[in-house]
Amino acid sequence: MRLGKIPEDVRKLIIPMPSGEMVYECLGCGAKFPIQRLYYVCPSCKSLMLLKDLKFDRLIRVGANYWHRLFDHRLMVNHQSVRGVFCYHEFIAPEIPEEDIVFLGEAHTPMVQAPDELVKEIGARMYFKLDGLNPTASFKDRGMACALTFAKYLKRVQKLNNLMTVCASTGDTSAAAALYAASLGPEVKSVVLLPKGYVTPQQLSQPLGAGATVIELPGVFDDCMKVVERLSEIYNVVLLNSKNPWRVLGQESYAYEVAQQFDYELRDMVLFVPVGNAGNITAILSGLLKFFRAKVLIRLPRIIAVQSARANPVYKYFLKPLEQRVFKPVEVTPSVAQAAMIGNPVSFPRLNRLAREYVEEMGQDSFGVVEVTEENIMESMVMANRRGLTICTQGGEALAGLRVAKASGLFKAQETAVIDSTAHALKFIDFQNAYFNGTLESEYGIVSKPELTNKLHSLELKGVKVPSLGTEMSQEEKEDFVIAAAEEIGNSLGLSPKD
Ligand SMILES: *Cc1c(COP(=O)(O)O)cnc(C)c1O
Ligand SMILES: [Zn+2]
Repeated sequence: MRLGKIPEDVRKLIIPMPSGEMVYECLGCGAKFPIQRLYYVCPSCKSLMLLKDLKFDRLIRVGANYWHRLFDHRLMVNHQSVRGVFCYHEFIAPEIPEEDIVFLGEAHTPMVQAPDELVKEIGARMYFKLDGLNPTASFKDRGMACALTFAKYLKRVQKLNNLMTVCASTGDTSAAAALYAASLGPEVKSVVLLPKGYVTPQQLSQPLGAGATVIELPGVFDDCMKVVERLSEIYNVVLLNSKNPWRVLGQESYAYEVAQQFDYELRDMVLFVPVGNAGNITAILSGLLKFFRAKVLIRLPRIIAVQSARANPVYKYFLKPLEQRVFKPVEVTPSVAQAAMIGNPVSFPRLNRLAREYVEEMGQDSFGVVEVTEENIMESMVMANRRGLTICTQGGEALAGLRVAKASGLFKAQETAVIDSTAHALKFIDFQNAYFNGTLESEYGIVSKPELTNKLHSLELKGVKVPSLGTEMSQEEKEDFVIAAAEEIGNSLGLSPKD
């Protein structure tokens, strides 16, 4: 829609204008720092930072209707800068001017109601948010859009000639980092570090395709992360892991979209979120709290974080009563939810802070963590796939979390689940193939259920000449082949000929 067709009172608000007063705030000592520099940790106490708007109260004063109208109209206009995460500019990065906004088609992913048959099979009402339908096929694009918007801003205001971005990744961060950095041109170089053998071929192809320098390291993600942290300490590079608080801001858009897609009414909703480095869940909690405080939402959904038993430090922490909780990293073992295979989540201190704020607002049962088995993850992925939803293994993990929560009574009959499918099924399709072939047993302990597997059928035809590259066939031979093939298929499917 043309801007001129938008009602006049909203029209003048559509294009984002710089506002607010953003600062980094240290989670440890509370010190604040201006945004004209990039910080990952507090210069004095080394704790993680979150970005804050010191003038947030101005967003509360205007009232819910103002925001509903603005966001809904922004989605209608043909104006690039508000098509992505910056539809919610005032809540994400209000001080950053429109000229720096990077948009590659991310965000506003579909919210799809589960087909009836799947509702019956799982025994719960649910929606799937298909975040695999982002440009690099994972939710990481949300955070990268914001982190690279900030990098572009920084480069402009500080008149930097060159920037080098670095990240460690279980696959998807590197794909997103490389693509968004590539969009800024040759002055921005991108380097990604991956754990050798723990990234799918599809994921590996993505940063290569976007022209990044791709470096494999021995070890798992947690080891790569340590190396990247060291690089960012001793060199002038832009760290793009979710330690970078600008990533968290962009990923808040997931929460804003869930709110908008349910017309800002989230009564009896429960969001299931797979957790690895804990950046996504941090962002979702943060976004929901901001919308609640600004009265864009009058109630908040419950949140259930989901981890595989093979990479479960967050689950173990929250299992204990409040006064006994001590965070301990775990050694991970291979998980099919490979993008969440993290034993020492970098964003844990943020998650802990925000989960506390969340339960203070909404009550003890508003935040929980469940643990799921590898078998449940694979079965859930395949079950959803069979009913029309292309969810990844981490989406399978979230759905597995719903099944566990339902079985234990944590998820109640009147509730509706929102399953976060964080990536596209095709990125993790080799796990599905291996499930079908029954080869996941040794490393992952997964025994395939025959009723959930599928296999390729190959047609064997006897007595006719069959097509083969480089051999000539006569018209008659071609017809004989078609007749024989159709008959063989018809017989094997048990079809009876028409009268
Ligand atoms: C990164 C990632 C996760 C885990 O998210 P965190 O923010 O690290 O907790 C889950 N699923 C997919 C597909 C991912 O790429
Ligand atoms: Zn500090």
